[in-house]
Amino acid sequence: MIDIQNKPQVVVIGGGPAGATVSTLLAQQGVRVELFEREKFPRFHIGESLIPETYWVLKRLNMLPKLKDSQFIKKYSVQFVSDSGKQSAPFYFHDNKDHDCSQTWQVRRSEFDEMMLRNAEEHGVKTHEGVRVLDVLFDGERAIGIQIMDENGEKRDVHADVVVDASGQSSMLINKLKLRVPDPSLNKGSIWTYYKGAKRDPGRDEGATTVLQVENKQGWFWYIPLHDDIVSIGVVGDFDYLFKGRGSHEQVFAEELERCPAAKMRVEGAEQVTKIFATKDFTYKSKQAAGDGWVLIGDALGFLDPLYSSGVLLALKSGELAADAIVEGLKKGDTSRNQLAHWEREYMVGMERMRKLVCEYYDGFNFGRFVRRFPNHRGDITDLLIGDLFKDSLDEVFESIATMKSESEMMAE
Ligand code: FAD
Repeated sequence: MIDIQNKPQVVVIGGGPAGATVSTLLAQQGVRVELFEREKFPRFHIGESLIPETYWVLKRLNMLPKLKDSQFIKKYSVQFVSDSGKQSAPFYFHDNKDHDCSQTWQVRRSEFDEMMLRNAEEHGVKTHEGVRVLDVLFDGERAIGIQIMDENGEKRDVHADVVVDASGQSSMLINKLKLRVPDPSLNKGSIWTYYKGAKRDPGRDEGATTVLQVENKQGWFWYIPLHDDIVSIGVVGDFDYLFKGRGSHEQVFAEELERCPAAKMRVEGAEQVTKIFATKDFTYKSKQAAGDGWVLIGDALGFLDPLYSSGVLLALKSGELAADAIVEGLKKGDTSRNQLAHWEREYMVGMERMRKLVCEYYDGFNFGRFVRRFPNHRGDITDLLIGDLFKDSLDEVFESIATMKSESEMMAE
């Protein structure tokens, strides 16, 4: 039941990692915040591999003790297998920073997202599960609240000073305000499933994410070891290549596995324990991160191809930046676009660095070869892979990638 007498200052649409982050950090700083989630948790979600820079936001959220106590598999590295089956040396996250944050986790999202939402409640967030947000209410250009459909099927308006859209790929405000900027070069799709008893590397590599290229580089498999001896394995490729004129998802998954012997070998003899899932992964972003009285975070602000497992990090990071901007704005009595969006530029530049690294991979970039040619950039590559994206010095990596490309073109002539 919504307490109309005690109107929230902020309403949040969606209880995924972005929504849980922004609302927890707001509540921690004394803001009255209510979160509306259409599902009842736990609910299934794809996106199981965290990257180490999540550490700092998880720390602010007081989530670290819970994660350390959990069954989630520890992840120390990422490794790449080329289409010829050659495996690069793992990129261990401690190369740069020998610290707690050089390790992260492989999480079942149903469990992780529920942990985040309950943690939000413990910090004073009022959550409403099974409540769908139907619309964002505007007075002219200013967002003034939301319309919800409550558990009893009744429509109700909830007013607030700030509306945060954390609705994931539903992207309520991107759609309503026509803010979508698609990225047609990254129109990908995924087909995935779960195995029990599949191969794991020994020791510290047990929890590594492995990225395995399919024959002719037409796609790649993720291989993510989870707890209870489960492995998440999925193929990503151009949407048309995977989904047009090729039969059922089951058939395509089996065919792609045949085209990636290194992935096939890992699941041989293991038991497939779920159905096959499929989704589109079209990269997009919003033209703007905020307006008068509204802010976008997580996938509701932009979605990036899943290659480097950056989605949850970006959800947490944008949630953190938005929370701090909102708190400052509420204190000053200023919830205009100017105030709410002051983090937008730096964030978008960081996200763009990750996008460029994704595009380089699809363009044939080989991590091992690059680090052999530019050993001075090994630390920068690790920084990008852990999600430490917000440093201008990283742009030099892309200059060196361009140099390496022109060198190989000259060699080929
Ligand atoms: P979500 O987690 O999608 O949460 C949004 C919430 O809003 C949902 O719970 C939804 O029910 C709710 N909602 C939506 N509409 C409404 C409404 N109208 N009213 C109320 N509630 C609503 N990321 C990683 O970090 N690592 C990975 O390995 C990874 N792999 C991926 C693989 C694939 C194939 C894909 C597609 C994505 C992957 N991602 C990965 C990305 C990651 O899943 C997302 O970036 C992340 O979930 C974003 O969090 P979010 O909170 O913004 O959105």
